Amino acid sequence: MTDRSLLILPGDGIGPEVMAEVRKVIDWFGTRGISFTVTEDLVGGAAYDAHGTPLTDATMAKAQEVDAVLLGAVGGPKYDVLDFSVKPERGLLRLRKEMDLYANLRPAQCFDALADFSSLKKDVVAGLDIMIVRELTSGVYFGEPRGIIKEGNERVGINTQRYTESEIARVARSAFELARRRGNKVCSMEKANVMESGVLWRQVVQEVRDAEYPDVELSHMYADAGAMQLTRWPKQFDVIVTDNLFGDLLSDLAAMLTGSLGMLPSASLGAPMENGRPKALYEPVHGSAPDIAGQGKANPIACILSFAMALRYSFDLGSEAERLEHAVNAVLADGLRTADLMGPEGGTPISTAQMGDAIVAK
Ligand code: ATP
Ligand code: MG
Repeated sequence: MTDRSLLILPGDGIGPEVMAEVRKVIDWFGTRGISFTVTEDLVGGAAYDAHGTPLTDATMAKAQEVDAVLLGAVGGPKYDVLDFSVKPERGLLRLRKEMDLYANLRPAQCFDALADFSSLKKDVVAGLDIMIVRELTSGVYFGEPRGIIKEGNERVGINTQRYTESEIARVARSAFELARRRGNKVCSMEKANVMESGVLWRQVVQEVRDAEYPDVELSHMYADAGAMQLTRWPKQFDVIVTDNLFGDLLSDLAAMLTGSLGMLPSASLGAPMENGRPKALYEPVHGSAPDIAGQGKANPIACILSFAMALRYSFDLGSEAERLEHAVNAVLADGLRTADLMGPEGGTPISTAQMGDAIVAK
């Protein structure tokens, strides 16, 4: 018996291929007494093919019940012709919206063996381990009024950056909670010098810290300076918390400090549930990669590291997460590479399944 429930949604394209390797990792933990109650279901194009909708109500209900959802990828050229309302991506959007996942976590982590892979100098990225927390459900992407209006004889495009105190406070709490499990340090980024929402952002983050997390070190930085510092010396940061728009830019920037799309995990967290764990969905940053789907070429590491994040943030299994990350690093250190990790010097890539097997063996 276990109280660890996991809903697996492999999805489309390389989703099922990389998820099969995660299943090997889950099975391995099971043989070591750390078991999960796993349910597998359809999402995206796969769900559309079976049920005519990219996410059924039953699957949505299941997602609301479990401790964590692990998703592969959705979409593919086959579904491009579909009406917007049943596009595969809508399945993922519905999950995010109905689970109210307001904190998007994107780590930028450099595995020693790949330090040469970065476009930056090796000593700048070696050992890098930072986390960007991006507010995901509000800000300029959603603020009203918005639209293109006519003013005199020209058109005007309008978006509104709007943040309520409670929206800022809840994502700040996610960042402080994370920091306590990591380096105990948060840097909050906004543009309080030119934006009112930024002024409020800075105030509320500081208030939450002073009232609830006095043990966590907090600093503030303008987002433009933050972008500069991230490329100059990223190791000065531990957790960065920022709004939806700046987070979009900064998380892409930070992630690419270290290498391939095939290596990047993510988590989206919501409010704490009755058991104290946050609602959570884990997924690789990459998409369904139709160009390599079905060929056994996909790198399963992004999805495996997404499961490591689930171990850490949904199941309080931090040392098991570390063990898994160490196995990934050790396999890379042995020189094993899927095709996406091959440098210009070439070599012989291993398959998706070989990479999964090698990680389990380590
Ligand atoms: P989406 O719109 O779903 O984000 P996309 O077209 O933006 O999809 P991906 O599907 O992530 O992007 O693919 C981008 C490129 O990266 C493709 O060439 C793909 O083959 C490659 N790629 C993505 N994920 C992996 C992976 N896990 N292993 C190897 N290559 C990958
Ligand atoms: Mg994309």
